[in-house]
Amino acid sequence: MSFTERKQEVTGRIIAACKRVGRDPSRVRLLAVSKAQPVSALDEAYACGQQMFGENYVQELKEKAAHFGEVAAIQWHFIGALQTNKVKYIIPFVACIHSVDSEKLMLEIDKRARAHNRRIRIMIEVNIADEPQKAGCTPQEARALFTRSKACEFVNVIGLMTVPPAANIAEESRIHFKALKQLADELNLSEISMGMSHDFEIAIEEGATIVRVGTALFGARH
Ligand SMILES: *Cc1c(COP(=O)(O)O)cnc(C)c1O
Repeated sequence: MSFTERKQEVTGRIIAACKRVGRDPSRVRLLAVSKAQPVSALDEAYACGQQMFGENYVQELKEKAAHFGEVAAIQWHFIGALQTNKVKYIIPFVACIHSVDSEKLMLEIDKRARAHNRRIRIMIEVNIADEPQKAGCTPQEARALFTRSKACEFVNVIGLMTVPPAANIAEESRIHFKALKQLADELNLSEISMGMSHDFEIAIEEGATIVRVGTALFGARH
């Protein structure tokens, strides 16, 4: 199957999920997660009109962004674990960082963003099921981080992100998506990044505004 065919299929499922719960499909954005995909796959996706791409690794993102150059109408979203010493490499061009889970990281983003005179949109990653050894803050830490973000002139917290526990049945993620939505509402944050290839429909039913879809759009990773 081509990217276009897969995207049509995914888009149809997004629209159907919105319909089931009375949501406006224009409020759900499709982030194409292109990690471990060759640039040729991104070229194909871009030619089909896809402009939002998600990447997990700084080096890979730098290379792909360089391939497209500054003229391409691409929004690069960083969704992986981010070390503070690598923040500087992505600040000049990244559109949004979904995976901010510590004050140290947020302050580094603020500092580097100031140097480039760019306001950077970020999302706070929440370890919503409180799993050991998983990235993301607790809901309590997320509240504190959001409060502290108000002192960061070059950081704009636009929402929350989560990766729920691995589950065999997508339906098992629903309670976690509900909990993230509830926390976002409490903090008055409008963007909710949740849902991947196997569970994006449930995430949409529970309020996702950005779904991060990789394999359902590109096929298996290389
Ligand atoms: C890889 C990845 C995705 C996409 O996963 P698929 O199952 O391929 O859709 C989404 N979010 C994050 C944080 C990822 O690391």
